[in-house]
Amino acid sequence: MNPTMIAVEKVSKSFGGVRANHEVSISVPEGKITGLIGPNGSGKTTLFNSIVGYHPIDGGSIKFEGREISNLLVPQIARLGLLRTFQQTRIYGEMDCVKNMLISVPHRHTTLADMFRSYSAEQKEKAEALLEFVGLYQKRFLLSGDLSFGQQKLLEFAMALMNEPKVLLLDEPTAGINPTLINGLIDRLKRANEEFGITLFVIEHNMRVIMNLAEHIYCLAHGEMLAEGDPDEIQNDQRVIDAYLGAH
Ligand code: ADP
Ligand code: MG
Repeated sequence: MNPTMIAVEKVSKSFGGVRANHEVSISVPEGKITGLIGPNGSGKTTLFNSIVGYHPIDGGSIKFEGREISNLLVPQIARLGLLRTFQQTRIYGEMDCVKNMLISVPHRHTTLADMFRSYSAEQKEKAEALLEFVGLYQKRFLLSGDLSFGQQKLLEFAMALMNEPKVLLLDEPTAGINPTLINGLIDRLKRANEEFGITLFVIEHNMRVIMNLAEHIYCLAHGEMLAEGDPDEIQNDQRVIDAYLGAH
């Protein structure tokens, strides 16, 4: 058994009258790729937001490497090695890819000029090596705003890797990406897991992608945990099938 990196126990979160998560429990083991699926509006992003400290939870417990983190703020949790990417990309379109990589690491400078002067050759090499890893080396000096949407997602993934997270939460990494890039991205996610040893927890709407990627999958519906299992079990679970059919 691998040690548990993230342990969520009976976490609830409401927005006004909307019960986005109700007593949700999950466990993310070290070194594995864990999946989270569910129809739109089932509370997947809310759960990620709760885990990374984006908002306070109404009840329950969230532990990272055995330590309660539900009372911590986003930067404190990030410093422990728990990071997330967003459903919408968050990059600086007016900066090239290398600069986006460099500013993705927390810093103390107040002006951009100071900041860029302060980077070591080592950090720049690391930025370029990671851009190569995601297939963007040739485009490293292009403005990131000129990249395709799929390439921007690859850049955002590389920016997360720049921070050397222990655990990375990815919110719909393949949404809006064309099929050729999707296969490349799946391959990169698997390699980041195998070669860099990063534990991944992935929200994914595309069933084919999550079946290919994750060893263990949780399925949310209406804010509650509907089912969990390996890809085969989830694929054949009548409750999961009904939740997806009912949603379309
Ligand atoms: P998913 O990611 O599975 O599509 P979300 O977690 O984004 O689902 O949303 C779950 C429910 O919570 C939805 O009904 C959504 O409208 C609501 N919700 C999410 N975030 C907020 C918020 N900040 N304010 C109000 N309602 C929200
Ligand atoms: Mg979402």
